[in-house]
Amino acid sequence: MSKPAEPNATLGGACHCGRVAVHVPPSSAGVVVCHCEDCQKLHGGPFAMLVADRTDVRWEGEADVQWYRSSPENERGFCVHCGSRIAKRPVGGTKIMVSAGLFGHALPRTVVKNVWLEQKPAWVTASRTGPLTPDELVALALSEPIGSPTAEYGYSLRASSGNKRPPGVIALTWIAAADAAERERIRAHSRQNVADFVEEPGFISIVTGFTGLRGFTVTAWEDEASMKRALSKHHAVAMKELFGERFVASVWTSVWTPTRMNRLWVRCVGCGALEDVSDDHRACTKCEAALPERPAFW
Ligand SMILES: [Zn+2]
Ligand SMILES: [Zn+2]
Ligand SMILES: [Zn+2]
Repeated sequence: MSKPAEPNATLGGACHCGRVAVHVPPSSAGVVVCHCEDCQKLHGGPFAMLVADRTDVRWEGEADVQWYRSSPENERGFCVHCGSRIAKRPVGGTKIMVSAGLFGHALPRTVVKNVWLEQKPAWVTASRTGPLTPDELVALALSEPIGSPTAEYGYSLRASSGNKRPPGVIALTWIAAADAAERERIRAHSRQNVADFVEEPGFISIVTGFTGLRGFTVTAWEDEASMKRALSKHHAVAMKELFGERFVASVWTSVWTPTRMNRLWVRCVGCGALEDVSDDHRACTKCEAALPERPAFW
């Protein structure tokens, strides 16, 4: 019988002399490329890495890795025999960034993100993100940068209808998934909700996202009636699952009306003055240069 495919097989890499081998889970995010000056010195150029949870990484010959404190926040590991750069790890963090070069030319990955482009030398051509699939984007945003005791990082997205009218109500909600599978289920619901929202003429825009297992939404509507119309579609189905099944750990929703709406300011590209464009006029009152179209309020 032929060996079945192993979708959960780890990715294996090794240093030049082979004494240090490292295995990372296939779910590890990357390739992420760092162009900071520390990485340039330490790697002889940009540092291409796979990002993984430290506890998910399996080592052989770990005793041959020497760690060097390259900054107050980070350590870099190299093979004491051949000098290959093995990994970077934040001091006291939960993640590890393993050198992509250890995995050879057959590593089935593309560059998903370039970081620290501010410090990249002129001879390197790189753009901030590669061609990310939505799943790569989520994996990346959830794994990097590192969370701290007070901050948790995640990802967000904005979906807009182009509606320029001022918001009459804002809905603020959050929902906590019990685990990663529930998070995916919530995300599938929100994709359908957003599709309903953009069909509603009174919808303005939604900013939504996840930090860890906690999802949030900030949605602007012209009025409560348009919000209610949009929520009567797929959202009502999701609510039924939520209250009828064991689905989500906790949830809070709310609807807010404005206490005060301030002016909307846009900088004139001609004279550099900040112009109050709340009434959507298109010429600078100071220099008469043409102003760009007024952005939406949300
Ligand atoms: Zn080595
Ligand atoms: Zn760097
Ligand atoms: Zn001007």
